[in-house]
Amino acid sequence: MARRMVIVGGDAGGMTAAAVARRRRDEEDLQIVAFERTAHTSYSACGIPYLVGGVVTDADDLVVRTPASHRGRGVDVRIGHDVVGLDLARREIVVVADGSERREPFDLLLLATGAQPVRPRLPGIEARNIFGLQTLADGLDIRRMLEHERPEHAVVVGGGYIGLEMAEALVARGVKVAVVEAVDQPMSTLDLDMGALVADALRAIGVELHLGSAVDGFDTGSDGAVSAVRAGDRALAADIVILGLGVKPASTLARDAGIEVGTSGGIVTDAQMRTSAEGVWAAGDCVEVRHRVSGEAVSISLGTYANRQGRVAGITMTDGVATFPGVIGTAIAKICAYEVARTGLREQDARRAGFDPVSARVESTTRAGYFPGAEPVTVKAIADRGTGRLLGGQIVGKSGAGKRIDVLAAGIWNEMTAEEFAMLDLSYAPPFGPVWDPVALAARKVADLVA
Ligand SMILES: Cc1cc2nc3c(=O)[nH]c(=O)nc-3n(C[C@H](O)[C@H](O)[C@H](O)COP(=O)(O)OP(=O)(O)OC[C@H]3O[C@@H](n4cnc5c(N)ncnc54)[C@H](O)[C@@H]3O)c2cc1C
Repeated sequence: MARRMVIVGGDAGGMTAAAVARRRRDEEDLQIVAFERTAHTSYSACGIPYLVGGVVTDADDLVVRTPASHRGRGVDVRIGHDVVGLDLARREIVVVADGSERREPFDLLLLATGAQPVRPRLPGIEARNIFGLQTLADGLDIRRMLEHERPEHAVVVGGGYIGLEMAEALVARGVKVAVVEAVDQPMSTLDLDMGALVADALRAIGVELHLGSAVDGFDTGSDGAVSAVRAGDRALAADIVILGLGVKPASTLARDAGIEVGTSGGIVTDAQMRTSAEGVWAAGDCVEVRHRVSGEAVSISLGTYANRQGRVAGITMTDGVATFPGVIGTAIAKICAYEVARTGLREQDARRAGFDPVSARVESTTRAGYFPGAEPVTVKAIADRGTGRLLGGQIVGKSGAGKRIDVLAAGIWNEMTAEEFAMLDLSYAPPFGPVWDPVALAARKVADLVA
């Protein structure tokens, strides 16, 4: 008889695993059933700010594979199904659909429940015009509100990349936007000096920044909607509020079932994505992973990891061999005129992890300085003073700057020293960069400090 693989969560982690498992096992061997509480599967959450801003006009374009298309490929997708409990002893999950509860059996279980936006318990937080942003359904709610209520003022709470992408999207919709951020610069995944460049880019498109300022609460009217956001002695007018305070792993189902959850709040797995419970795997934003430079357990919410972990789970759940090797936190975003990218450790992370970091910052260009279309780029490289090992890199620059982070990431992943990286055989011609590419230049400069 066919074994039954049950998946909770129908996006990147869950459906990648489903597709991989289906390629490796036919329906006579393995039945695959995926439960998703919203109406969508396999969508690009990363594209939501562009849907809100109008760069992408049709939400369907963000859906890589619909429930019907999954079904056509032999994966039984049940949308509108909320999994509310796991009964590991009886090998069943508890599901609510159309208002009624029932149980579904499994032989193999994959938890791919993603993450949920942080929603602080502040006065007024339940107001109807305060939005978190995680699923396509959230993005559609925000777009509907923009189209029907035409808000004049928006406040984005939190200056991480999702908050800033949303700030830019709202500006594109003609909304006046204020960003409130508790620390002194936006993009706290960068060091403060690099975040300052991002702040300038936001101000240049008219975003009002309130840095070093924490939100205390929301003023609501009799209609149940927010009219202002309170931050210190300021009341910022708001017809819509977007929460960009980061996300936390959606690990409650696992925790309640006695599955080990780590200090970061993510489900603990081994490198094959197996949890502490027999026959139960987890993948995507709901898990915690090992940072290859700091050695720490971290929860970093990125689609790149969810896809890779889903692939590993799909293989190992079907008795194959695959390993998720850990992360170094490589990420990129477009914030206004700038491409903003980072990898590895910031200086403060490096210090916490026991390194003695030194850093160098270079200003360069994306093409040879004399070549038409050369754009400015700032690169920061961080290395360990004692060993010269590269620990981190950050890039802020215009078109053509950001993806250079991937070269730095490969160097950091492979534990290269700054000197080795500076001498790497990288390509050069004037339309593509200076003879010392900006990343090699930054590595060379930091290598001089550790030599
Ligand atoms: C606005 C935005 C922009 C982003 N941009 C980028 C980017 O540029 N680059 C990048 O690498 N990453 C980006 N990300 C992060 C990326 O989208 C996530 O890391 C990725 O989607 C995680 O995939 P996942 O499958 O683990 O979780 P999710 O995509 O969150 O999917 C989890 C699914 O599980 C469902 N679910 C949860 N609990 C239950 C339950 N109990 N029962 C049934 N269903 C349930 C949810 O409805 C959801 O559909 C972005 C995220 C957002 C929100």
